[in-house]
Amino acid sequence: MEQIKGYVFDIQRYSIHDGPGIRSTVFLKGCPLTCIWCANPESQKQVPQLMYLRHLCSQCYKCVEICPNKSIRILSDGSLEIDRDLCVGCGFCVDICPAEARQVSGKLMSMEEVIDVVKKDALFYKNSGGGVTFSGGEATAQPDFLFSLSKECKKLGFHTALDTCGFVIWDILEPILEYVDLVLFDVKQTNAKKHQQYTGVSNKLIFKNAKRIAVKNIPIILRAVLIPGHNDSDEDVGSLAQFALDLGGPEINLMPYHKLGLKKYESLDMKYKLADAEPFTEEKIELIREQISNYGLTVKV
Ligand code: SF4
Ligand code: SF4
Repeated sequence: MEQIKGYVFDIQRYSIHDGPGIRSTVFLKGCPLTCIWCANPESQKQVPQLMYLRHLCSQCYKCVEICPNKSIRILSDGSLEIDRDLCVGCGFCVDICPAEARQVSGKLMSMEEVIDVVKKDALFYKNSGGGVTFSGGEATAQPDFLFSLSKECKKLGFHTALDTCGFVIWDILEPILEYVDLVLFDVKQTNAKKHQQYTGVSNKLIFKNAKRIAVKNIPIILRAVLIPGHNDSDEDVGSLAQFALDLGGPEINLMPYHKLGLKKYESLDMKYKLADAEPFTEEKIELIREQISNYGLTVKV
């Protein structure tokens, strides 16, 4: 029988921020959204991608010689340029680089390989009330792989959580939910026009799916990414709270904007559109937290 495989860009063990207890978070590659604030740009494409950390490069040019696709060019000032159309993420240059200036994000793994990793911490899950969380990218962008992983985790008795943006056809999502104990539902923007503008897709299907999940009585935690000047106005925050109330009042986790992904954009030759945005002050986050609490909702930062 053919093995189910998928692209994974990280498996984080001992995670305490992606659901209850101690967990392993499996990050699947590929996402249908292109949020302008994305902190994991290496997660957006489903295929492996080369990341080049210029500041570590000693310009030995070993990578130029070994690249089978001739995708690395030496510029007149001695620096390197990668032709992203030619690079296939094979990783030959990673293995030969003496400065660890290169890495490939994304690895094709079988379901068994992923399960072998998450199984190692079964005792921690049991003792802490934890389990396994599937995240991304957007985990549902590899539906067959996600389905098999969730089903196998449930078979092993693990609590499972799905972190999703909700932009997925219901007929694809529904069978997966059968093996999911908790949905961490990402909310980017309740305003339809702004959602389209900031993420590249409509929020109509997303909100419809959130309601369908709530109707199924699967526990939900809303995860609201807070971006300065993009979804932090009184109106935005009020509308987020109202959306939560419409779902039956799930807990809201606020995830304030940070700049940790900036270097990743450079390493992928991608432009970061929010380079000028400044992280929130603690006072502003507290004000938002208070505004949501006033609706009678549980809110955590
Ligand atoms: S990952 Fe492979 S194709 Fe891409 S630059 Fe390195 S050696 Fe060349
Ligand atoms: S092999 Fe590494 S250190 Fe050498 S030129 Fe390439 S990226 Fe730079």
